[in-house]
Amino acid sequence: MMKGALADISKAVGNTPIVKLNKVAQGVRSDVYVKCEYLNPGGSHKDRVALNMIAEAERQGLKPGGYIVEATSGNTGAALALVSAIRGYKCIFVMPDKMSQEKIASLRAFGARVVVCPTAVEADDPRSYYQVAKRLAAEHAPNCYYANQYHNQANPEGHYKSTGPEIWKQCGEELDAFVAGMGTGGTISGAGKFLKEQKPSMKIVGVDPVGSLYYDFVKSGRITKPFTYKVEGIGEDFFPSTMNLKLIDEIVRVDDRECFSMTRDLVRLEGLYVGGSGGAAVAGAIKYAKMLDEQGAKKENILILLPDSAQKYLSKIFNDDWMRENGFLEEEAGLGTVRDLLRPGHALVTAASTAKVRDVIEKLKAQGISQVPIVDGKKLVGIVAEVDLLRHLVSGSGTLDSPVGPLVEGDYATVTPDTKIELLQGVLTDAKVAIVIDAEQVVGIVSKIDLIEFLAKRTTSAA
Ligand code: PMP
Repeated sequence: MMKGALADISKAVGNTPIVKLNKVAQGVRSDVYVKCEYLNPGGSHKDRVALNMIAEAERQGLKPGGYIVEATSGNTGAALALVSAIRGYKCIFVMPDKMSQEKIASLRAFGARVVVCPTAVEADDPRSYYQVAKRLAAEHAPNCYYANQYHNQANPEGHYKSTGPEIWKQCGEELDAFVAGMGTGGTISGAGKFLKEQKPSMKIVGVDPVGSLYYDFVKSGRITKPFTYKVEGIGEDFFPSTMNLKLIDEIVRVDDRECFSMTRDLVRLEGLYVGGSGGAAVAGAIKYAKMLDEQGAKKENILILLPDSAQKYLSKIFNDDWMRENGFLEEEAGLGTVRDLLRPGHALVTAASTAKVRDVIEKLKAQGISQVPIVDGKKLVGIVAEVDLLRHLVSGSGTLDSPVGPLVEGDYATVTPDTKIELLQGVLTDAKVAIVIDAEQVVGIVSKIDLIEFLAKRTTSAA
């Protein structure tokens, strides 16, 4: 073979550059760097995962001509398709319908079959993309490998063996914090584990979109109501077994508007041609760096992983019409945000989990409310609603002197003061109430009737 050539394109996976952010991170003291995983030959960090998964499939007996089935939002698909093209496997991918046309087209370009499923169904619904993938894998057995990135340990292991050591080789001891968006958890759990083993003080920071389950679960231990958001590839409405939340030192939440505005800035100001989850990770990392500054902590060397490229989002994040239609451009007036709904001067009523059932009932009565957030110190641990108290009292064993702690439930979603009213409408069709959190503190609670009142007032004043 000619000198300087690689045996095939899969040998070009990895060795992605690390670059300093010069403009978008000017407001923080820490030095912020990005790892350009979007420069991998399949277009994302998932190339590393695909190589490891296919090696595992071959160990389990997959033969050329066999099938690889996966439920994928695109990048894992492209990566598996690329490696399969070289090694002679056929791919079938199942995707949710919110994914961009570009992603679907690029999979078909590799010769893969793509099956599109509805997003608006539960994960255990037979029409969901997870379930359809499982069925297709069973139909093509035995010369078939179900990649199953959400529950296949070959996914985090790919990052443990490849991304982690590569970052350590590039940065070494100087690196203080590693930041990544949280999807399957492959990146953060795999690379995070390796980096923490090398340097136990390394901070592993996860970035989660508003609407996903991870943030609330890490912060309060509760499984709240997930709701939809536009950024692709990060956040989940269930807990994949590839995600190791124990490794995470800090979790930061970002909303779609922040993600997309940062994504555009990264391309326009830094020349980094990244997709939405890269913007999300950088927006989250900058919040983390600001937090360090506010705490007076020492500045850090922060490294953010940029998963995929802008190419796949040209018709969305980089299209002003799409951005405007979705209310992500500044000029968009819309219905306003949750901040407009929070009544100034109206004190928020909360209770501690040690409060007695009797006192909480009194509180509900006195304030004319139906539920109360339970807050210990500053930490939100859940809500207690009329029905929980009723259930407790009719159960026979429940007394008025018991603490409310054991009655706490998770039928709420958390939003921020910047969450748009349009989004809140959807949130409140699924969850009993929305709890408003700002800088980790509960600042309000919004029920369906609050939203109805707000919308009714608007209609009257417009008439
Ligand atoms: N960004 C994009 C664009 C992705 O496709 C994914 C994978 N779901 C992620 C981020 C998150 O990576 P991981 O699954 O390793 O957590």
